[in-house]
Amino acid sequence: MSLLLEAERYVANQSSRAALNAFITPLRSQSGRWHDQAKDADTRGKQGKAKSRLDGRLVAIKDNICTRDLPTTCASQILNAYTSPFNATVVQQLEDAGAIIAGKTNLDEFGMGSHSVHSRFGPVKNTRRGDDSNYISAGGSSGGSALAVATDQCYSALGTDTGGSIRLPAAYTGTVGFKPSYGLLSRWGVVAYANSLDTVGIMAKRTSTVRDVFDILNQHDHRDPTSLSPSSKARISSALKLPHLSSRLTSSPLRIGVPLEYNISELAAPVRESWRRSIEFLRQQGHTIRPVSLPMTKSALSAYYILAPAEASSNLAKYDGVRYGTRSEDGNDGTESESHLYAKTRGEGFGEEVKRRIMLGAFSLSAQAIDNYFIQAQRIRRLVKHDFDAVFRAEHPLAAETSAAEPQERPAGVDVLICPTAPTPPPSIFGVTNVNASRSPLDAYVNDVFTVPASLAGLPAISVPVPGSEDLTGIQVIGQYGDDELVLKVAEVLEEQSS
Ligand code: GLN
Repeated sequence: MSLLLEAERYVANQSSRAALNAFITPLRSQSGRWHDQAKDADTRGKQGKAKSRLDGRLVAIKDNICTRDLPTTCASQILNAYTSPFNATVVQQLEDAGAIIAGKTNLDEFGMGSHSVHSRFGPVKNTRRGDDSNYISAGGSSGGSALAVATDQCYSALGTDTGGSIRLPAAYTGTVGFKPSYGLLSRWGVVAYANSLDTVGIMAKRTSTVRDVFDILNQHDHRDPTSLSPSSKARISSALKLPHLSSRLTSSPLRIGVPLEYNISELAAPVRESWRRSIEFLRQQGHTIRPVSLPMTKSALSAYYILAPAEASSNLAKYDGVRYGTRSEDGNDGTESESHLYAKTRGEGFGEEVKRRIMLGAFSLSAQAIDNYFIQAQRIRRLVKHDFDAVFRAEHPLAAETSAAEPQERPAGVDVLICPTAPTPPPSIFGVTNVNASRSPLDAYVNDVFTVPASLAGLPAISVPVPGSEDLTGIQVIGQYGDDELVLKVAEVLEEQSS
């Protein structure tokens, strides 16, 4: 099929599936710039001059990533009139590779949420299991990107993952969602939620497509101070090419770790069954399975929900109607005090969940609480990292460089970990939006229990759909820092279960 035909099909699906609310800004069905771009890519392809494997492909962008040609709303009222004067680095990299921006996708406001229901534009509606009157959660916060991929409204999509926002939606929509190691993909032009955790990630139907996008985006960006420098990257790749590690990408059997603490009592039976099948499948492929212990897992979720809101409350302070954000009409006449203007603007501009996070964050950073909350959560974060370092065969490649001794083979160490992405199949939208006495907003936080540990440690992690007893289930592969290639390789092996 020509790239133009493919693009036309995706754009037609964007209008016929508009009710799913995957897009905040879709492409217009009538020919637009995308049409010429796809035609040009076809011509280049015929001449053997394609710019990249993504030339002429439609890639959707989560609406917290800046695009020069389309508005960036973060699904928030406070950014209802914002269009960035520049492209985020990741968007520019895609365009330079010939990819066509397929519109901006719906999300939880500023990336805060697990079901893509906290959006000014209404919830993302996943129909994977239900009929139209019985929508299920698309996961969050990159639910729009995931659903757009799952329902053929684009070829691939970018999202962001702070504590699981790529992986959870991938699991709930039956797609592949990859969060690379922290610092590999540029965050320049990505609206910050919690900087020390935020990562751009990639969604697609197949891991091979995710890899193609990753290869284009995996470049140093001097404008992002946390982007890994070429010298750090060189250190990482030489550490991971040490003799005892170098054969892992080729044919040698891998050691796969199964974290015992992830076998929680709340784990739904179909999820446990898919996990068991995946372990069995890997064993049949000749890999060795080892149980491992990550004792801090249980505390990771609480630590995350202290640290992420703390960073968020500080990041969102700038939306005051003066420096950033749409000013409240009511605060505008100059007769009221500044604090009235700020309160009005922020009160009207932010949704409930964002306000909850700001309050939580401001509290845990306050003088009376910082020692008992924020500092303790940082301590737990260090212990979570330590847990992971203790189980992997490869030492943390950046830590290894600073220790005087040569990195040693760890006889009991594993190459990757395999565990579920989420404890249950996707819940219904009705169930997650109707907060009554028996349900607290905190219930949504529990869905992130298996995704936040890798985020706290900055590790690469991917969710792949595998067959379960009822439906596709997301299984997660987590690797040592910088071991992104290996994580993608294991995802490809797991994917074979479905084919
Ligand atoms: N659900 C988590 C939160 O609300 C993760 C969100 C994300 O990764 N952006 O913070």
